[in-house]
Amino acid sequence: MLAKRMRAAVLHGVGDLRVEEVPVPEIGADEVLVRVRACGICASDIHYVEHGHIGRYVVSAPMILGHEAAGEVVAVGDAVRSLAVGQRVALEPGVACGRCRMCKRGRYNLCPDVRFFATPPVDGAMAEYAVLRADFAHPIPASVTDRQAALAEPLAVGIHAVRQGSISLGDVVLVQGGGPVGLLTAAAARAAGAVVVVTDLFPVRRRAAEALGAVASGVDNEEVAAALHALGAPDGADVVIDTSGNRRAVAQAHERARRGGTVVLVGLPEDDAVTYHVTEIVDRELTIRGVFRYANAFPSALRLLVDHGVSYEGIITHDLPLGDAVAAVDLARTQRDRAIKVLVC
Ligand SMILES: [Zn+2]
Ligand SMILES: [Zn+2]
Repeated sequence: MLAKRMRAAVLHGVGDLRVEEVPVPEIGADEVLVRVRACGICASDIHYVEHGHIGRYVVSAPMILGHEAAGEVVAVGDAVRSLAVGQRVALEPGVACGRCRMCKRGRYNLCPDVRFFATPPVDGAMAEYAVLRADFAHPIPASVTDRQAALAEPLAVGIHAVRQGSISLGDVVLVQGGGPVGLLTAAAARAAGAVVVVTDLFPVRRRAAEALGAVASGVDNEEVAAALHALGAPDGADVVIDTSGNRRAVAQAHERARRGGTVVLVGLPEDDAVTYHVTEIVDRELTIRGVFRYANAFPSALRLLVDHGVSYEGIITHDLPLGDAVAAVDLARTQRDRAIKVLVC
């Protein structure tokens, strides 16, 4: 007998996050009901708590937070053949229409009709249960824990950033920002055969970068230049990926790329406009690419999470029970010097 009510972390408005009882969502014919075992807290969750909106997405009705979840299938819709009750799955949180031009091109992250967890008005997965279309629920390899599988979502962003940067064997890659996405981007770039430098202000994040096989650096120009020089790239990185969204770092990204190099933008600066020198970009023939979420990256992310000598555990610094979701979000929001990825389990 399935539960009818569940606990969930529901955002009611700016600064007003509550753990409360809500109905368990109903499943459609092509959907599965998942008992969530771990859900990561993302910068976007924090942003909604602090500001009540991200760009044009406004929290105007109570919304369950969370889009980085893993758990176990507890019910399947009538039309579902690909999954069975009891299977562990990672939840790819953006369900695309599958019919539009972008979907047909395989770039379904750009689907105008995508429904993404914890993006108004769509509920997220920081709850006891979540419903998802079955083809977006990806089986978790046996050796990957539910906690680790909650990293599949930010790792998928990293994989997409590596693909957008066309990173290949032996490339020198500079990742600006050692938050969860930066660290997992570094891990993906390492897996692609790159030599990676990660910059961050906080020692805890630099240590996590080193644990993933990257070289860690402070954020100052001289430190970054010295790190690139030591790796044999005195003229700049082949690919610079900004995950920090720091205005200065974004503005400097193209100066840190070599001639003919690529800049990949992932992080969003608080104040959107950043000045770029067109002459320099043209003269040095730089490629600048954006990263919006990911497409076709979840299965790869789950395979990378299998421990091939790289442990992702250092990224998960805290896990708290769902009942403490408010404290968990607060921890992730205010303690960036010690918290990297905070999970609600
Ligand atoms: Zn996220
Ligand atoms: Zn579509």
